Amino acid sequence: MSDPSRPHGPRIIAIANQKGGVGKTTTAINLSAAMTAIGQRVLVVDIDPQGNASTGLGVGKEDRQTTTYDLLLEDIDLQSAIGETKTPGLYVIPATTDLSSADIELYSSEKRSFLLRDALRQPAMDKFEFDFIIIDCPPSLNLLTVNALVAADSVLVPLQSEFFALEGLSQLMLTVRDVRESANSALRIEGIVLTMYDARNNLSRQVEDDARENLGDLVYKTRIPRNVRLSEAPSYSVPVLSYDPTSSGARAYVELAKEVMRNAPQLAA
Ligand code: ADP
Ligand code: MG
Repeated sequence: MSDPSRPHGPRIIAIANQKGGVGKTTTAINLSAAMTAIGQRVLVVDIDPQGNASTGLGVGKEDRQTTTYDLLLEDIDLQSAIGETKTPGLYVIPATTDLSSADIELYSSEKRSFLLRDALRQPAMDKFEFDFIIIDCPPSLNLLTVNALVAADSVLVPLQSEFFALEGLSQLMLTVRDVRESANSALRIEGIVLTMYDARNNLSRQVEDDARENLGDLVYKTRIPRNVRLSEAPSYSVPVLSYDPTSSGARAYVELAKEVMRNAPQLAA
């Protein structure tokens, strides 16, 4: 940490919500890409055994030699785990299905909740000069997600604009509180982002009103619209900013990136 302009190392943000299909991976990929478009160096750490963030960033299954599994359970060189993407400034540590067994293997380790934290905060990380590390979590509150919450400075929660969205959130917030009380007292809420938002849909607006009423400033002003370009981009192995930079989805993630970079994370949970 000899560079005085980055005295605190990268800001580590976990993208978490135990519900599947709410936009975690889409947010991890596209928020990260949008940050690089505003000059940041970003590392995406894929800790979902499904490996969707890795696929969406163009790391084919055959190219995943060194993965987050190795990062957590083997003593590996960071350099060999961190791969480039087609987007300048955007890097990824990919995941494979091996990780699904890691959840069980982790239990036998005394440091089971701290493995990701120790891996990401090792001094060898400094030379990569990342501004942000974005962790894409699995759809569960398992030990992998706990590792992410222990490693992170903050947690960013995608909230799908649909019924029962807020109910799932309280469970996540309880886990955040547990982690804060046990392993990472500094964990903050980065913010909550409404995803797959459709302003013409009453339900979307109702979820938004409820979220803003209950969670106030934690909810970003930026809403991510439902936009087919966001769902198409992964099959071209690039973020939406490369696939269709003028799409509503691309523009929304740039706005979100600016908001995240402007705001300080908050304690409330
Ligand atoms: P998660 O990682 O939480 O399981 P994903 O990001 O994989 O969720 O999103 C689930 C599905 O919804 C994917 O097929 C994705 O392409 C699609 N999707 C996510 N966000 C949007 C959006 N804003 N507009 C349209 N489709 C979206
Ligand atoms: Mg996902």
